[in-house]
Amino acid sequence: YRHGQASEVAVPTPNGVVYFGEHHPVVLIAGPCAVESEAAIVSTAKRIKAAGGSLLRGGAYKPRTSPYAFQGHGESALEMLAIAREASGLGIITEVMDTADVSRVAKVADIIQVGARNMQNFSLLKKVGAQDKPVLLKRGPSATIDEWLMAAEYIVAAGNPNVILCERGIRTFDRQYTRNLLDLSAVPVLRSLTHLPIAIDPSHGTGKSQLVPTMAKAAMAVGADSLMIEVHPNPAKALSDGPQSLTPDQFEALSKELEMVGKVL
Ligand code: PEP
Ligand code: MN
Repeated sequence: YRHGQASEVAVPTPNGVVYFGEHHPVVLIAGPCAVESEAAIVSTAKRIKAAGGSLLRGGAYKPRTSPYAFQGHGESALEMLAIAREASGLGIITEVMDTADVSRVAKVADIIQVGARNMQNFSLLKKVGAQDKPVLLKRGPSATIDEWLMAAEYIVAAGNPNVILCERGIRTFDRQYTRNLLDLSAVPVLRSLTHLPIAIDPSHGTGKSQLVPTMAKAAMAVGADSLMIEVHPNPAKALSDGPQSLTPDQFEALSKELEMVGKVL
């Protein structure tokens, strides 16, 4: 792989540059699955900032299995994210699903997310590779490590070396207890293959909020550079992924526990 050079990704945010990489503290990314309202995203962002988070996540464009499920508020959600960025000082990470939206998303996002379902959307990879915001590339639900790294290679080959890999669980035959199977062995395996920073998403990786704190600590123990955690002010009422979302109080408690495992930004 040609993406061997950069061992860190530097992300400018309103509160200074956040570094992702092996030689830096673990970066906490948190926020709701989807941006639902301005008031909710602003208050959630402030709670996340107070609890030690560095970046706010929240989908404007949502890749939903059913076309009848909530699809995200789109452009207006991008505006809400921009407001939450100003109000909290957190950097913003949000997903882009369509090549036509890349420049619009790049205007608001400090990191552009390519979701699991688009890991091998090669036109999208080329497009995010041709702009200058860092990209968080999620592992496809059935992607091998090599397929994932080659997808990252598309972004790098198009001119953008700032790629963060994010493991979010792969398909499992037993969906009764976990939505996906979080592949924590991907961390040491990737470490031997690439210098790209590695994030773990235990929220999509388990699908169950009760499992998130334990798997987040486990992710830190295997050497993840960043954690992405879904946080919602009222998970029972969330428009998507409520069952796997922590409350702001739970996120704050987790953040304190993580400090005991290792160095958190
Ligand atoms: C997300 O993080 O919002 C998301 C949809 O996750 P994934 O692409 O991993 O399913
Ligand atoms: Mn989600």
